[in-house]
Amino acid sequence: MELNNLTAHELIQKINNKETTPQDIVASLHKRIKEKDAQVKAYVRSDELIDPTHIAGIPVSIKDNICTDGYNTECCSKVLEGFKPPYNATVIEKIKAAGHSFLGLKLNMDEFAFGSSTENSHFGPTHNPWNLNCVPGGSSGGSAASVAADEAIWALGSDTGGSIRQPASFCGIVGLKPTYGRVSRFGLIAFASSLDQIGPLTKDVRDAALLTNIISGHDANDSTSINCAIPDFTKSLINDVHSLKIGIPKEYFVEGLDPEVKKVAEESIEKLKNLGAQFKEVSLPHTEYAVPVYYIIATAEASSNLARFDGVQYGFRADSSNLIEMYKKTRAQGFGEEVKRRILLGTFALSHGYYDAYYLKALKVRTLIKQDFDNVFKDFDCIITPTSPTAAFEIGEKTDDPLKMYLSDIYTISANLAGIPAISLPCGFTKKGLPVGLQVLGKHLDEEMLFRVAYTYEQNTEWHKMKPKL
Ligand code: GLN
Repeated sequence: MELNNLTAHELIQKINNKETTPQDIVASLHKRIKEKDAQVKAYVRSDELIDPTHIAGIPVSIKDNICTDGYNTECCSKVLEGFKPPYNATVIEKIKAAGHSFLGLKLNMDEFAFGSSTENSHFGPTHNPWNLNCVPGGSSGGSAASVAADEAIWALGSDTGGSIRQPASFCGIVGLKPTYGRVSRFGLIAFASSLDQIGPLTKDVRDAALLTNIISGHDANDSTSINCAIPDFTKSLINDVHSLKIGIPKEYFVEGLDPEVKKVAEESIEKLKNLGAQFKEVSLPHTEYAVPVYYIIATAEASSNLARFDGVQYGFRADSSNLIEMYKKTRAQGFGEEVKRRILLGTFALSHGYYDAYYLKALKVRTLIKQDFDNVFKDFDCIITPTSPTAAFEIGEKTDDPLKMYLSDIYTISANLAGIPAISLPCGFTKKGLPVGLQVLGKHLDEEMLFRVAYTYEQNTEWHKMKPKL
């Protein structure tokens, strides 16, 4: 078995037993990347290798919107071309403090994390390792594809409306969006600040727990980070779901859910039932508003966050003899089509006369969506749904229809609006051999329940051991 095929916890064991070294692991990853990344295209600017003296522990691959000191961080946008942050995001500092390192290569993503397929990247799309004609999901498509293709041991992504969980589901790996505030956003280039969270994409649940242990915690540099004790999440890796009460929201099993995905999800629920969990149908009545509410709030916040990219401080600057022209040209040439669409939408929703009708209304419905979850969690330990209504779709299939694309996050968006944690784990395949993901949603700060349910399911199934043939 090549080192790059192993999980982080297996490699930690090997390092402790003096059977391998961090240098060997990096060498094995580089070999794999050289052989396979021309097809997968998970990494961008692949010339930036880590300085060998900085290699330690298990290298983590990082999404291109997380600041890495001295390494390009461009959000896969032309507007940030050449931007090298002078500091590390808090998560990178925490990875170093835990004895690990950043691999040195950055992962592909939809420009500014706006998308569900990684097709909005300035560098072109990433391909799904299970079927190279399909998308890997998005926006953390590079993160998910690199882990699934064994071009990364583990990776970090960001999730504003599903961008960790949906690509994890499309690529057959584990992805966690922690509770809002569990992980510092300092150094994560903001998309929608009230929704964004950094989280792990890994080959199994144990690695997700390990990486969550490392990146969690209060940070004085992020005023929204929560000051509370961090449990050791590996203690929640308990193979037992006896008498846990799990809700199945009826609003998620309706039209639009692909019949094959539905079948696979129902079989997984059956499996957990046989392992002793108690299931009951529940209702999240405001689910139908999640997508419209998200696209008002997320674009409103994005239009404000992206105002700083004007050619003065960061990255790309268009040629011009006059300042106002320079701002205009930089933004016109630097941003891609989807980014422009969202800046326009968000600016409109915040404009005088429309603020109350759209933005304020969306905030109110957001509260109702959160209350739906609070009500269910009074009687239930967690909620289970499919992660996405379909398996991976073909590259190009939805690019002409933004609304269709937006619907691929219908099951993931509510967790961000409510601020609650949610995990996606592999639970089967479609007839065409594409992975399907199961989502477990939990109470605020109750990642422990998610790890327990996910671990139990994983220990009693083989899905996480399947590898794509590349
Ligand atoms: N796909 C959603 C969007 O396009 C979510 C993206 C994300 O979580 N970053 O906004």
